[in-house]
Amino acid sequence: MGRFVPLSIPNFEGNERKYVDDAIGQGWVSTGGAYISELENELAEFLKTDSVAACQSGTSGLHLSLIECGVQPGDMVLVPTLTFIAAVNPVRYQFANPVFIDCDDSLCMDPDKLRMFCERECRLENGILVHRLSGKCVKAIIVVHVFGNLADMEKIMEVASEYHLKVIEDATEALGTYYIEGRYAGKYAGTIGDFGAYSFNGNKIITTGGGGAVTAKDAQTVGHMRYLSTQSKDDAQYYVHHEVGYNYRMTNLQAALGVAQLEELPEFIERKHRNYELYQEYFKGFSLGKLLEFRSGTYSNQWFYSLEIPMDRIQGTLRDIIMRLQELGVQTRAIWQLIHEQIPYKEEISYQIERASYYSSCILNIPCSTQLTEDDISYAARQIKKVLGEMEDE
Ligand SMILES: *Cc1c(COP(=O)(O)O)cnc(C)c1O
Repeated sequence: MGRFVPLSIPNFEGNERKYVDDAIGQGWVSTGGAYISELENELAEFLKTDSVAACQSGTSGLHLSLIECGVQPGDMVLVPTLTFIAAVNPVRYQFANPVFIDCDDSLCMDPDKLRMFCERECRLENGILVHRLSGKCVKAIIVVHVFGNLADMEKIMEVASEYHLKVIEDATEALGTYYIEGRYAGKYAGTIGDFGAYSFNGNKIITTGGGGAVTAKDAQTVGHMRYLSTQSKDDAQYYVHHEVGYNYRMTNLQAALGVAQLEELPEFIERKHRNYELYQEYFKGFSLGKLLEFRSGTYSNQWFYSLEIPMDRIQGTLRDIIMRLQELGVQTRAIWQLIHEQIPYKEEISYQIERASYYSSCILNIPCSTQLTEDDISYAARQIKKVLGEMEDE
């Protein structure tokens, strides 16, 4: 047959080659050049925020945010356990300790358990939240907008303000997602908390190969993150540095790709929506796989689609399902293994994890690349239904 429906691959249908060629022609390929500021300005405009710093990855944007929050060795940071591990690793780069919180049915952090942890396990001392058992200071929350779905930011921001915590939004998967209702109507993922990080890795909704961006409430903080990301140069000509800096800046080559991709973002989101609606039709009434919805009151970028599979009715594992579909030319993947169970994080505190364990065991991500045709979606949906049907426990 030779048919292959890819999970999530980059799409270069626009000005990518033209702009990258232009950057090479100008000789600006490294961390200086006009495409970087152009990308920053256009991204800030798109997100309706004052300022954005382009960086080398989403991970570096998260790390810069933690530094800016003043997270010190031995501090605690509240994080989800159901996430890609890059949302958590930067906590350790600061020699701080993550505390793992459960998810709700949106797959994002459960705001009620977040509140319970602060209320029952911690106390406020002179305006600082202190974990009772360890005496450690709790400084920040990292909220991940999983698969382009917004976390419950109204409740999370309330908890944060009550307990004096900074909020870092990991919006690496949610570029273009925003609230259409409620207190944050019109606000984009990543611009609600104190910091927001974006990723342009190869599998994200737009890509620069590798790359990312970070924003903050005020332009001055973003400026400081930009300064840290370029080796903290106080006098670039005479190599004067007043702080320890990082090599976290995006390159002009990446930014050239990014400017072209950003032009296509609205079109990519439309295609994600169209394909999601097609899947909705195909999976309507299908009892062996339920397509998860995106939060109501929001406009999601619908980056990744999730199928919830009743594993107790299936003979075999998620891995078996993925292998069979692979043979039929349909690329799918399992959601992440929980972070609190991974070797580097086993000793850290995890708080009442239940929903995350359930979802981690039964979510299958199905093809969502923006270049998929109606025919591809129809083929993928039919194969998925067929394989699950064959694997049903009689
Ligand atoms: C992709 C991703 C990151 C990291 O972004 P990079 O650009 O690859 O460093 C962080 N968190 C989540 C949830 C992601 O999906």
